[in-house]
Amino acid sequence: MNRIIATPSAVKELLAKYDLHAMKRFGQNFLINPDIAEKIAAAACDPDCPCIEIGPGLGSLTQFLCEKAPAVYTYEIDKKLVPLLEEELKEYENLQVVNVDFMELDLEQVPYKDEEVTFCSNLPYYITTAIISKLLESSLKIRRMVLMMQKEVAERIDAGTGDKEYGAVTVLLKKYYSMKRLTNLTPASFLPRPQIDSTVVVLTPKGIANDPGFNAFVYECFAQRRKTLANNLKNRCEAAVLAEALASLSLKEGVRPQELSVAQYEALYEVLK
Ligand code: SAM
Repeated sequence: MNRIIATPSAVKELLAKYDLHAMKRFGQNFLINPDIAEKIAAAACDPDCPCIEIGPGLGSLTQFLCEKAPAVYTYEIDKKLVPLLEEELKEYENLQVVNVDFMELDLEQVPYKDEEVTFCSNLPYYITTAIISKLLESSLKIRRMVLMMQKEVAERIDAGTGDKEYGAVTVLLKKYYSMKRLTNLTPASFLPRPQIDSTVVVLTPKGIANDPGFNAFVYECFAQRRKTLANNLKNRCEAAVLAEALASLSLKEGVRPQELSVAQYEALYEVLK
């Protein structure tokens, strides 16, 4: 197979060949570290499981996914990248490139809806949390997700109760997934160089059934993170009911959303149900 060897000069040549420029508004920071790309693909792919990629860019990660997974569906918002991907990766017959905004994709209609899949992405940083929320809310049978994100977002996902980075996505990921860091990357691994460090995380489901009611409850609790939990929940239940529920869990009335552990959210949800 002819691989795209994503060195800085090769990436520049590819962009020039197709008359393209990295688009800041699509979060295009292309990976120029083939060893890391192969390591990410090895962590993401199993020989018996289709792999879904969000944002293939110039295909430097995609090609390794195609070598390690039986089928790869990759979703790219930038239509100008599609001819490049189709031409440069044409030897990979197990690849399907779809030009779509992943946030607009109806995950109920995808062809792999009823089988297990893995997810892999060097995420566009401007929508990292939105993509994770979308995956968390989907009914897809996700075997594993291997995601590259801003280092500080990975820290937020890993954050403990009370941490200022602790949020609704943290609570839901902690409930449903266990997380392991695969590697950290400096800006030198990308072209153009971002201003931030990156981390690749491996998220593995704990096997707990998705509970949309609980998920909606957690988002509601964090609707305005500077406000108290009671304030965020005032449309869900009367103040006295909530005060009683909080007291039954030994939580103070003015507790803030970032002060509750996953277990306390689960308990509060059960009490208020
Ligand atoms: N995977 C490539 C790599 O590692 O070099 C590119 C990663 S780059 C950080 C993010 C990619 O996501 C870009 O190709 C960008 O065009 C694409 N992208 C941005 N927003 C998207 C969206 N809403 N849906 C699908 N792709 C998107």
